[in-house]
Amino acid sequence: MSLSVFQRQLLGLHENALQARGGHRLQAPVWAALQCLTDAAFEAGFRLKIASAYRSYERQLAIWNAKLAGQRPVFDDDDQVVDLATLSDVECIRCVLRFSAMPGASRHHWGTDLDIFDAAAVDDDYRVQLSLAEVDAAGPFGPLHEWLDERIAVGESFGFYRPYDKDRGGVAAERWHLSYAPLAMPYEQASSAEVLRLAWLESEYGGLGAREVLDSQLESLFERFVLRVAEPPENALKYLPPA
Ligand SMILES: [Zn+2]
Repeated sequence: MSLSVFQRQLLGLHENALQARGGHRLQAPVWAALQCLTDAAFEAGFRLKIASAYRSYERQLAIWNAKLAGQRPVFDDDDQVVDLATLSDVECIRCVLRFSAMPGASRHHWGTDLDIFDAAAVDDDYRVQLSLAEVDAAGPFGPLHEWLDERIAVGESFGFYRPYDKDRGGVAAERWHLSYAPLAMPYEQASSAEVLRLAWLESEYGGLGAREVLDSQLESLFERFVLRVAEPPENALKYLPPA
C-alpha cells in the first residue's frame, strides 16, 4: 500500500499546497484568515507574529532525534531542562512528546497550524521560547492570549482555535498553538497510528530515534499524545473566508 497525496500532506511529506511568506509556510486560505486575525489583533494593540508554521517530516525528524540525543533541551512543565539520562526509554519518549510530536504526527505538517506570539510585548531582540511562563497571565504574551480566548469564545477568531487548550495528560497546554479548523479537521480525522507506521516504513529519511520503543507502544502513545485534543468550536469549523 502506498500513500496518497492527502496522506503525504498529513505526514509532512508533500509541500505543493503551501505558500511562503516571511520565512514561514501555510496553506493559502490559512494566510488569508490569519491576515484578518492579525489586523484585529493590531487594532487591539497587539502585533501577532508567527514563531513557527509549517514543518516538514524531515524537520520534525531532526528535532525528535536531537532531543532524544540530548543535542536539544527537553523541558518539563516547570520550564526546567530534563536530564534524559536518568530516565528509561519510555519515560524519555513521554517527556519529549509533551512538547514535540513524533515525526509524521505533528499538526505543523498540515500547513494549517502555527505558533504565535506578540511582538509588541517584547524587545526586537527577544528570543521567543514558547514556554508556559510566556503565555501565562503574568507572562509577556498573556494579554494577547486573553484577548484571543475572548475572540474564540464569541466566534470571532476567523476559523482559528486552540487544539491544546488545556492539559489532557498528553501534550501540554500550548496556548501559543493555533489551528485553522476548516482545513485542519480533515487531516485530524485521517490521522492514525496505521498511517504513521506506513510513513516510517516509506520515509526516505530513515533514522528515527527510539523506533523500537515507539513501535511497541505506538497505539497507546498515539491515543495519548495525538488524539487527545480539543474539538474545534462549531463557528470556527464553519468559518468561511471573505470572498
Ligand atoms: Zn505548535
